Amino acid sequence: MNFKNTLGAAIAIFAIGITSNTTFAAGGAPGAANADPSKHFHPKGKMPSKYTKQIFADARKNLPFSDKQDFEEKNKGFIAAPKYKKIMADAGNVAWDMERYEFLADADKYNSIHPSLLRQSQLNMNYGLYKVVDGVYQVRGFDLANITFMQGKTGWIVFDPLTASETARAAKELVDEHLGKKPVVAVIYSHSHGDHWGGVRGIVDEADVRSGKVEIIAPRDFMQHAISENVYAGNAMSRRMFYQYGVLLPASPYGHAGQGLAQNVAAGNLGLIQPTRIVEKDIETFKVDGITMEFQNTPGTEAPSEMNTWIPSIKGLWMAENVVGSVHNIYTLRGAQVRDSLSWSKYINEALHKYGTKAEVMFASHHWPRWGNDRVQQVLKDQRDIYAHMNNEVLHHANQGVTINEIHNIYKSPSSLDKGWTTGFYHGSRENNSRAVINYYLGHWDANPATLIPLSPRDSAPLYVEMMGGSKKIIAKGKALFKQGKYRGAVEILDKLVFAEPKNQAGKDLLADNYEQLGYQQENPGLRNAFLAGAFELRSGIPGGTSPKGGGPDVIRAMTTGLFLDYLGIRMDSKKAVGKAFKINLITPDNGEKYLVELSNETLTNIEGYTANDADLTITINRTDLEQTMMGAKKFTDQIKDGTAKVKGDTKILGQLGAMMVDFELDFEVLPGTKGKPEKTDQNDFEASAAANVAE
Ligand SMILES: [Zn+2]
Repeated sequence: MNFKNTLGAAIAIFAIGITSNTTFAAGGAPGAANADPSKHFHPKGKMPSKYTKQIFADARKNLPFSDKQDFEEKNKGFIAAPKYKKIMADAGNVAWDMERYEFLADADKYNSIHPSLLRQSQLNMNYGLYKVVDGVYQVRGFDLANITFMQGKTGWIVFDPLTASETARAAKELVDEHLGKKPVVAVIYSHSHGDHWGGVRGIVDEADVRSGKVEIIAPRDFMQHAISENVYAGNAMSRRMFYQYGVLLPASPYGHAGQGLAQNVAAGNLGLIQPTRIVEKDIETFKVDGITMEFQNTPGTEAPSEMNTWIPSIKGLWMAENVVGSVHNIYTLRGAQVRDSLSWSKYINEALHKYGTKAEVMFASHHWPRWGNDRVQQVLKDQRDIYAHMNNEVLHHANQGVTINEIHNIYKSPSSLDKGWTTGFYHGSRENNSRAVINYYLGHWDANPATLIPLSPRDSAPLYVEMMGGSKKIIAKGKALFKQGKYRGAVEILDKLVFAEPKNQAGKDLLADNYEQLGYQQENPGLRNAFLAGAFELRSGIPGGTSPKGGGPDVIRAMTTGLFLDYLGIRMDSKKAVGKAFKINLITPDNGEKYLVELSNETLTNIEGYTANDADLTITINRTDLEQTMMGAKKFTDQIKDGTAKVKGDTKILGQLGAMMVDFELDFEVLPGTKGKPEKTDQNDFEASAAANVAE
C-alpha cells in the first residue's frame, strides 16, 4: 500500500479545497481494499481473540436478527444498479469504490466485525437507483449521503447533491438513463454539512442559477455554518478524521468495515454554489417548481443549520439528517461543537405531531425510506425518545454525582429500544454521546481537584512508569491482562509506558494489540476505526507527506473576510509577535467592507466596520482580488507590485506579519513516537486553509 498516496487521498476527502493543486500523486484510493480478506493486511495484525468472539456470540444471541424490516425497506423500489463499481474523479483518482466493500457480503466467516455493525454495513451496500414513491427517486451508495430526485412541474428538484461533483454527476446520469433526461430546476440543501452540497456543480451549471433557471434553497444561516463550522479548528479536525473515519485503514474484515451512515465519503471535487432562497422563518410554506413544500427549520440539531421538509402532495416527510437509520452524534469524534440532544428530540417531536401523524412515507439523506404511517410514527417516536433519553438519563445521573469520566460506563439506552433496530448506535455511540451531554451542560471538568490542572500525559507518564517498576514489569502485566481479555486494563498501563517511552516499540506493539481487540469489539464504526487507527499508527507510524493546501475556490470565496482574518490570528505564532504592535486598515471597496486589524499583546484581532486614523498601514483592495491571495494564487506582495492593492504607510508590516504565520501540518503526532518524516509545505503567507471537513 502506498501510504503517501493514501494519505493524500484522505486529505482530499476531508479537507475542502484539495482539487487541482493537490500535491499527492493521483491513483491513491482512500485506504485501498485488502487484497485477500481472509488475511490481516498488517504484518503485526492479530486475529480476534476468544474474548472478542464471545462478545460477537452474545450479540448474535441477544439482538433481533430475525427482524428483516430494514432489509425489506432498503430493497424496496429498486430500479437499477450501474454496471460499474468505481467512480473516477476528474483528477484521476478513484472518487468512489463499492467493490472494496464486497467482502462484507460474507464477512460473517471472518468473525472480526461486531454482528450489529456488520448488519448495518450490509444494509449500506445498497447501490443504485430506487423509487421512493411515484415521482420521487433516490440514488444510494454513490457517496456518504443519498441524492434524492423529485419530479417537479418542469424538471427535477434535487435534495442534497452529495459530496463530490463526480458522484453527483454519475447519479444524474443513472437517473437520465432509466427515467429519461430532464433538467434539474431546483436544489434543496438540507443542511450545512459538506456531504449534502459539495457535489452541486455535478448537476447544475452556475450560470443557470444566476439567470434564475435553477433555484437553490437552504435553511437559515446556511452559508455561515457551511463555511465556518470547520475553519478555526480545521487542521485538528482533519487529523482526527483518521481516527473517526479510519481513512488510512484498508477495507478489510480487520480494517475499515463501513462507516455506519454509509460505507465512506467520496474523494472528488467539492464545490459550493450559494443558495438563491433562504428559509428564514421557523416554518415556511412555498412552491418549488409547482410542488408545495413546508419547511421546518431545526437549528442546533444534527447541524447548526438544518431543515426538514413536508410535501403534502405525496404525504412525504423529508427528515434531512435529523432522523436516519442510526443514532447520530451528540459528540463527533473528529471534533465539532457538542450538540443539544434535548432540542434535537423536541424538533423530532414537532415533526411527528405536525407531519408524522399524516405521513405515508419518510425519507432522509442517509439510509433507506420508511413506508406506511405506522412505521413512520414508530421510527419518529423511537428517535425522539432516544435523543431525549440520552439527555435526561445522563443528567439524572450527573445530578447524583456521576461525572464525565464515568457516565460512559453507566449509561444504558432503553431496553425496549435495544430490542429493535430503529435506534442503533452506528454513528454516535452511547459512550461518547453520554459524555457529550455532560460536557454540554457541565463542561470537561469532573469536579475532582486531581483533574483540575493535571500534568500533561508526557510529563505524568514517566512518574507512573517509575512507580510501577519500569517497562519490563508493565509489559509483563500488559501481556497477562491481554491474555485474560482485559484490554481496557492493559490500555491504562501501556498508555503510560508509551507516553513515557515513545521509542519502546515492544510497548507500542502490545498497546496496539489491545487497541485492535477493542476495535473489533465495537458496534460503533467510529470507535472501531479510532482503536484500529491507533493500532495502525503505533505499529507503522504515521506517514510523512502532504499538508492540506488551500484553494477550494468556491469555499474560499464564501469565507467572509472576518473569518479569514480570524484564522490569520489562529495561524499566528504569538512568540514571534513579542514586543510588536501595529494597526492595519483593510478596505475592500467592491463589497463596501472595512476592517481594522490590530496586533497588540502578541494577539491579532480584527473588527468589522471600523478603521483607525492612526493606522500604520492602510490597504485598499477589492475583495475579489483579495480572494486570489486567500486562495494562494497570488502573493500579497505581487498584488501591491502591480497596483491591484493600494497601500499607504509602512508596508514592511506585511512582511513582519507574514513571517509570524505558521502553516499547520496534517501529520502531527497523536500517539507518541509515531511521526514520519515532515515535509515542508508551500503555502503562501496569507493563504487560507479551507479546512472545512465533511462534518457529521
Ligand atoms: Zn450527512
